[in-house]
Amino acid sequence: MIDNQPPIPMLDLKAQYAPIRADVEAAISRVMESHQFILGPEVEALEAEIARLSRCSFAIGVSSGTDALLVSLMTLGIGPGDEVITSPYSFFATAGAVVRLGAKPVFVDINPYTLNMDASLLESAVTPRTRAILPVHLAGQVADMDAIMQLANQHGLAVVEDACQALGADYGGRAAGAIGSLGCFSFFPSKNLGGAGDSGMVITNDPALADRVALLRNHGHRPKYYNLAVGGNFRMDALQAAILRAKLPHLEGWTTARQRNAALYREYFSQAGLVNREDAPVSLPRETDQGTHIYHLYQLRVQSRTALMNHLKSAGISTEIYYPVPLHLQACFADLGYQPGDLPHAERAAQETLALPIYPELTQQQIVRVVGAVAEFYR
Ligand SMILES: *Cc1c(COP(=O)(O)O)cnc(C)c1O
Repeated sequence: MIDNQPPIPMLDLKAQYAPIRADVEAAISRVMESHQFILGPEVEALEAEIARLSRCSFAIGVSSGTDALLVSLMTLGIGPGDEVITSPYSFFATAGAVVRLGAKPVFVDINPYTLNMDASLLESAVTPRTRAILPVHLAGQVADMDAIMQLANQHGLAVVEDACQALGADYGGRAAGAIGSLGCFSFFPSKNLGGAGDSGMVITNDPALADRVALLRNHGHRPKYYNLAVGGNFRMDALQAAILRAKLPHLEGWTTARQRNAALYREYFSQAGLVNREDAPVSLPRETDQGTHIYHLYQLRVQSRTALMNHLKSAGISTEIYYPVPLHLQACFADLGYQPGDLPHAERAAQETLALPIYPELTQQQIVRVVGAVAEFYR
């Protein structure tokens, strides 16, 4: 397909920046003039804003989504000998945080339609050593939290939500991250609300947990140089907070645009006859009826994935695989003893998922072009 159209990237941060440049620049110079670069009023203001958005009592700004997970598990006192049940189909940090504390991740397979943890498998994964469940709200859709919370309450387990891809998603009137004991967000630049570097946040409704997260975020100092606990440097930068505050008023509009793009994909893929039939080469992401999907990612399941990716690449269309190796088969977790075939749905997803561009600034014409290029491949 030879055309002279500009390439379609996975994300177009340049297009996003143009209309907010003045606000972001003002935020940056505000921090530069204040000379308060770590924590402080900008971080506190963002914490209040994220708590309000998540309809949650407490928010604690941290250094990344990874550190949000790590400090949440530290707050629960998770360590050697403990087990944390989690999803094998996530970004590495989900399981990495568990292992860094000397605890053991126990993976349950995913629901093949939502790609989230299959809650019906939890019961059989609980042992006397289980301390917590760590569900991931993959792609921007909340996992089956009613079933997860019920099981957790029955067994007295904590729940840490990896909501790094789901800021602002709703689940039965509650916000992603605000349902379990603690919820974790990432503001990595490519997330729906992304900073100009690394940062993250932990939210909770429990004042004791909030206090402990805040203590551990800064080495367990209380007061400074008097240490009540061994924490870390998980502090959030004021520059990130100020930039995120400039962007936050746009988040709802960006989410609506992502949802509109998902609806357009659905319409055009149906029109192209590529979906919803027995031998369809493409399956579209499925929305549950329990909440809103904020489409951090738009993941198809496709046949002949590598060839399709190459075809799209030659048509100037970027795609990405989230994720090519399920966590239980990562080389660094070999000593956990998992084998290929143990978690078949996650393993199949790793072979078949393909994420298309879904960013808010994507135009209807670009979506038509993407679907057209997919249709051309399967013709
Ligand atoms: C992005 C992400 C993280 C890690 O966030 P960082 O800010 O990059 O450390 C953790 N879990 C999931 C599911 C993510 O998407």
